[in-house]
Amino acid sequence: MVVIDEAYIDFASQPSLIPRLANHANLVILQTFSKAWGLASLRIGMAFADPEIIRILNMIKPPYNINGASQHLALEALANRDHMNRMVHEILEQRKHLVSMLSNLKLVQKIFPSDANFVLVKIDKAHEVYRQLIEKKVIVRDRSKVELCENCLRITIGNAVENKVLIDQLYQIHL
Ligand SMILES: *Cc1c(COP(=O)(O)O)cnc(C)c1O
Repeated sequence: MVVIDEAYIDFASQPSLIPRLANHANLVILQTFSKAWGLASLRIGMAFADPEIIRILNMIKPPYNINGASQHLALEALANRDHMNRMVHEILEQRKHLVSMLSNLKLVQKIFPSDANFVLVKIDKAHEVYRQLIEKKVIVRDRSKVELCENCLRITIGNAVENKVLIDQLYQIHL
């Protein structure tokens, strides 16, 4: 069995591999309502696979199935795909804008390419920047202790106002 995690697929430049299911009975593709759909609190994921695999999953799902209220809200969300597409479009626009604003900052050494709703940024004294941002009530994720991510911060794409606050605060940081 090959399992592919497509949690960020809606933000990616490549298409989903779901069409490949037709040719691969051992392929399972996972997606989630937690990211592009903005519904992390529902705790619902999606599995796409050969009917035989889905049949087995359906056999082992009870009695811990997804609750009825969450199912109802997930179906409502699916019926309004345009809303999700608009949110994704806005995040992709904001990602482009944020990357261009970040690239003007002297602190920033490198912005890694992103296919997600966040960017990974290599920055001078990342941990210190992280600490100072927290004092200004801006929360990013400090990845500087992660192997190969030395001095990196992970920044979730916010809305236009949030992204502006972040950039303004970064300009005010003194190392
Ligand atoms: C968010 C995420 C998921 C899905 O998380 P759930 O909220 O449990 O659906 C899966 N893989 C990755 C890499 C993620 O970031």
